Amino acid sequence: MVAIRDALSKDMVGKTVQVRGWIYRTRSSGGIVFAVLRDSTGIVQVTVKKGVAPEPDFIAATNTGIESSVIIEGTVAEDKRAPGGYEVRASKFTLVGPAEPFPITEYQSTELLLDLRHLWIRSREQTAAMRIKDSLLMGAREWFHKNDYVEVNPPIITGVAAEDSTQLFQIKYFDRMAYLSQSAQFYLESLIYSCDKVFSLTPSFRAEKSRTPRHLAEFWHLEMEAAWVDNDENMKVQEELVTAMLHRAADDCRPELELFKRDPADLRRVVPPFDRIPYGEAIERLQAKGLDVSWGSDFGAVEERELTKDSGLPMFIMNYPKELKPFYMKENSDDPRTYKNTDLLAPEGFGEIIGGSERETDNALLIERLKDKGESLDKYSWYLDLRRYGSVPHSGFGLGVERFLTWVCKMDHIRDAIPYPRTVSRVFP
Ligand code: ATP
Ligand code: MG
Repeated sequence: MVAIRDALSKDMVGKTVQVRGWIYRTRSSGGIVFAVLRDSTGIVQVTVKKGVAPEPDFIAATNTGIESSVIIEGTVAEDKRAPGGYEVRASKFTLVGPAEPFPITEYQSTELLLDLRHLWIRSREQTAAMRIKDSLLMGAREWFHKNDYVEVNPPIITGVAAEDSTQLFQIKYFDRMAYLSQSAQFYLESLIYSCDKVFSLTPSFRAEKSRTPRHLAEFWHLEMEAAWVDNDENMKVQEELVTAMLHRAADDCRPELELFKRDPADLRRVVPPFDRIPYGEAIERLQAKGLDVSWGSDFGAVEERELTKDSGLPMFIMNYPKELKPFYMKENSDDPRTYKNTDLLAPEGFGEIIGGSERETDNALLIERLKDKGESLDKYSWYLDLRRYGSVPHSGFGLGVERFLTWVCKMDHIRDAIPYPRTVSRVFP
């Protein structure tokens, strides 16, 4: 048995191979069935000729519809008209799992494709997206391990909100209420005291009420936290990590990227350092472009698009005003109106892919901010404890994996970056 990708080469011409997979397209004309077969590695044209293949095999091939699973034995031949330039001329055609008439045909509404997601994930785009994501994550793990990070497993069921408490999913937890995690950050902070540098890949949940093409209710969150790292060093980690992820995908996934019209060279061109733009300067740039913003304005899709649309490389926006960000960030002593934090914006108008910061280590400040928000200190007592026993400067960040993939693959909507998207209107299938 060979993978389809490996059957498509000059050295295979004339050889007898077995390939297996699913029928992607099929038509017959004048005693020949032309079936395109797909497996996870690619597609190949198979021809089944009356008089060459045994008669029962030819009849089976004639009657086999798309998405049926089959095993083919045949000879590899060069054929310029076939996709990829080669075909397999079948001597045997074995039907394994027949398919009923497939409900997805060429032009289908987005809604129908979402209803039939369990079948639509067989499509070439979805397969390519999963492979590229796998490769990006492989690049991340390689980078983290090379740099002495430990992969850890924080809980998903939690008692406190790390981000916006209005976006929490509540669950019934035995005889109490609990929440689904929005970020592993607080737990990762607690783990640096033993492991120094940690990372985790977990689902994060946010009850995003606004329907945007950039938000899911459940996404995969790649987060890191490191002791003895300040905000500058934190940016270097982000640059290197993002670069390693992109270069791994560029090396491994050329055909998949090309399916999305993403030139792998765009990804290879990304190398540290990235531009670092203070929030105040970003406001001036936006004002110069005629946007109605002033100190204190938050950046949404429109502002981030303006800031990044003429750039081919990611950029940091640094030191946001405190009102715009969560309570745990470290005050920026150079301008106490702001925090030592960054958003990393992807280029080409895309916008935020990472949020990061140095963390506040002064418990008095943390307590004051929690009180201002009307939060109960009890719930955060364990978090405040972390500053009581050998506190160290530390920083971390979170990268949304689907957000990142949406940019890499130039997708219009983040739902295509995950097999089963969870949004306000959808939990099926
Ligand atoms: P945004 O302003 O885009 O909603 P955020 O500031 O809420 O993002 P963070 O809390 O900093 O985001 O989360 C870290 C990263 O997680 C973001 O940079 C983004 O890549 C990703 N992310 C956040 N919310 C979502 C979501 N609802 N769906 C998918 N990815 C998300
Ligand atoms: Mg958000």
